[in-house]
Amino acid sequence: MSYIKMQVFDLGGTWIRAANISNEGKFGSIIKEPTEEDFIGQIKKISGQLTLSTEERNHLDYIVVATPGPVRDGMLLSAPPLGLKNSLDLKKELASLVTGKSTEIIVENDLNAAVLAELHEGYGKQWNNFYLLTLSTGIGAGIVLNGKSVKGGEFGHSPINPLEYPDQRCSCGRTNCWSAYASGKGIESLIKKIYPKYETIEEVCKAYKKEEAARTIINIANNANAQGLAMMINALEVEGIVIMGSLGLHQYNLLIPSNIEIEEYAINSIPEIVKTKLGDTIGLLGAYYRAIS
Ligand SMILES: [Zn+2]
Repeated sequence: MSYIKMQVFDLGGTWIRAANISNEGKFGSIIKEPTEEDFIGQIKKISGQLTLSTEERNHLDYIVVATPGPVRDGMLLSAPPLGLKNSLDLKKELASLVTGKSTEIIVENDLNAAVLAELHEGYGKQWNNFYLLTLSTGIGAGIVLNGKSVKGGEFGHSPINPLEYPDQRCSCGRTNCWSAYASGKGIESLIKKIYPKYETIEEVCKAYKKEEAARTIINIANNANAQGLAMMINALEVEGIVIMGSLGLHQYNLLIPSNIEIEEYAINSIPEIVKTKLGDTIGLLGAYYRAIS
């Protein structure tokens, strides 16, 4: 008989996704909502909407939350995409969700979780050495070497030499970070400076063909990505770079530079660059693998 084994949450700067997963690894329907400022209250509310019988809730094995930012012993140390500058004991905040004795709450960095999903069900099946690059509210990369995930990958906060608008401030407080020009937050701040008539990145991407200012923004972001990707390629020889994140997946054609553009900044040869086949639910799948592995 199938029962619910865990609830998984993928908490992002823009969206929160959640699902129940059965003991056979089957996903129930996925809830997706814009992330609210009170994301703790929102997780609790969604947990209730992911209907469980009292018996099922008492016998949940895991509640897993994948979140941006560094995590240590269940503590979220900071998370700029969530507007969180100080540490937060997410395990403690969510303790009221645990009604049974055996439920474990797991908090994991979202990129670490996504790497597990990619290793088990994505390009990890064919490559031993690869990056998983997320282009989303923020920018960061998971690193897999010899089939194992290794720590690091904060390439998004390394400086680049921007095409225009130097000294752009990043959400980390520094200037000229790759993220300051090509992450969701970075592009939004470029829009405010260069093209305030538009509000969203989607609008700017749509206007790319007909409006000069939209092209300027996209070209700055695309060039920042060429420099950032080259930085990654120069650092390690890998078989491929897998792209994930809302911008990486949905604006791939405009924002991911060609090999010729990347070669301007890279010494090593350019590996294969591909979109993850796991789509937007990679974070939930990663949360699942984090619990069972
Ligand atoms: Zn930064």
